[in-house]
Amino acid sequence: MKIVLTGLEQIETQPADQPAVESGMTRLAVRYCGICRTDAKMWHEGHRDLIFPRVPGHEVLAEDEHGQRFTVWPGRICGRCRYCTSGRENLCESMQIMGFHFDGGFSRTLLAPTESLIPVPDTITPHQACFAEPVGCVHNALTALNLQPGERVVVFGGGTVGLIAALVAKTQGAIPLVIEKNARKIARAGAFLGATQITALRETHESEFDAAINACPDPIAFSQAVTKLAKGGRLSFFSGLKKNQTIESNLINLLHYREAALFGAYGLTRQNMVAALGLIARHQPALEHLVEAIVPPEQLSRQLPRVLAGDGFKVILDFTGKTGRRSAAPPPPKTEAAVAGKTDANRLFQRK
Ligand SMILES: [Zn+2]
Ligand SMILES: [Zn+2]
Repeated sequence: MKIVLTGLEQIETQPADQPAVESGMTRLAVRYCGICRTDAKMWHEGHRDLIFPRVPGHEVLAEDEHGQRFTVWPGRICGRCRYCTSGRENLCESMQIMGFHFDGGFSRTLLAPTESLIPVPDTITPHQACFAEPVGCVHNALTALNLQPGERVVVFGGGTVGLIAALVAKTQGAIPLVIEKNARKIARAGAFLGATQITALRETHESEFDAAINACPDPIAFSQAVTKLAKGGRLSFFSGLKKNQTIESNLINLLHYREAALFGAYGLTRQNMVAALGLIARHQPALEHLVEAIVPPEQLSRQLPRVLAGDGFKVILDFTGKTGRRSAAPPPPKTEAAVAGKTDANRLFQRK
């Protein structure tokens, strides 16, 4: 079966077809696929370049015919343009994105570009590999910031990706502070924050941060990120902002006076995704706190409004048919040094 977006807010479950495998593509059996806010936005408002029908999904764990596990880098690129040949394949001039330009992982079978397959180490619990794409995007953003041990970094936005950004910054030796204006979201992140010893606040009077990252589309949060920078500070412009909003020139002038640097960050490279799997392998207990639910694919339409509203952490579709049984997702090995409290495997199977 596959889940097809047939129009705005229209989803159909259809029998999977078995299209011929073109050269350069590999047929995979999808086991898990995360629901991204991008998927929910596509469902709700479409996109200029999106042509229906389309199978969404780009946060995949899948297996080939030999049972080898892969996640899939969600790009299909030309390999020849100036960006592809200079290590910036995420900016390819003819970028095609899985789940958007071609069918993605909300399906039992997936045809993926063979060049985009990234092997998943055995140490990673299967559904955790769905974090490879968001963690890889964060890795791309933080690579530009080049954080040094002891540097203070402020992260705006306490959703799944903001918390991942704080975690990755911490693994690089920096001291992250998460700013999330919604107290309910901070409360919900309690287990993750406890396990990682990361602080999240609704606001801060502190300033002079060495670096900042915006992990939410709110232009006010972006503006605050600029004002919180020290002289010579670096800002990762990670989340695109809501369209047609105004940013004051006085604010942009702060970048000038402070000799601050602004780094755009868009998507990820295959290298970022490989690095992400390494991070996931080392931080599974913490990341498990960011798994809101693992649900059967039939529940997608019920989940999309919540994902769109940013209500809750990562929801993962289970194509193994095992959801509800413990064997579907054993708790990951306890390798997190700072883990406080144990992972509650039952929480994964809540049917919401
Ligand atoms: Zn995503
Ligand atoms: Zn290219």
